[in-house]
Amino acid sequence: LKNVQVEYNGFNTIHALQDVSLSIEKGEWITILGPSGSGKTTLLNVIGGMERSSSGEVEVVGIQLDKLSDDSLQDFRREKIGYIFQHYRLFDQFTVLENVMLPQWPYMSKKENEERATAMLSKLHMSHRLYHLPGELSGGEKQRTAIARAMVHSPEILLCDEPTGNLDRENRDNVLSCLEGLHQEGMTILIVTHDEEIAKYGDRVLFLRDGILKERVEA
Ligand code: ATP
Repeated sequence: LKNVQVEYNGFNTIHALQDVSLSIEKGEWITILGPSGSGKTTLLNVIGGMERSSSGEVEVVGIQLDKLSDDSLQDFRREKIGYIFQHYRLFDQFTVLENVMLPQWPYMSKKENEERATAMLSKLHMSHRLYHLPGELSGGEKQRTAIARAMVHSPEILLCDEPTGNLDRENRDNVLSCLEGLHQEGMTILIVTHDEEIAKYGDRVLFLRDGILKERVEA
């Protein structure tokens, strides 16, 4: 990212990201800490092609996102990005396996989709829950389902918005060790969170406040 700005023009103009420049290497795990409203989700959305910057340059896996048409941006998002949302966003009426298969449904045969989803869920220790509904899962199991869904199409980058937000310690450690496993296999991971303890994990910690990104300064 080079000099990226995101502004929301409503009653007041909100500067959600202010002159953000950031370079991330392939295979790095970056944690970005920041209080509520500091621009964390906006930053992930810009990197993941869910939102466009107001100005500045955004290049992800060699693709200049600001030059892409809306259709190409959608393809980029679907092929290159895995996104773990703040509140899991699982579909309650579908089983764990179906939740993981859903995003790839139009793009793959049912057989291949099912094989891939089953393998990813097994890797995340969820084989015993394939046919359960989200309402029957623990918080950690829901989040592992969300990780499986984000990873099933082998994305280049995994973007995580408060991945441990609502979890107790055991489930939280469990989810973090899943992410560690993926990182060891070479996955590029970007986590935004207000949970300082997550800063212990990963290669680099940055701090976002009022839309301004800084290398972290210890108090
Ligand atoms: P939280 O930790 O509470 O999720 P955050 O750090 O992820 O917060 P963002 O969601 O990125 O923060 O929001 C940054 C700022 O931009 C906030 O002031 C928010 O109110 C504002 N904002 C976000 N999305 C929009 C939008 N679609 N329209 C207008 N303002 C927005």
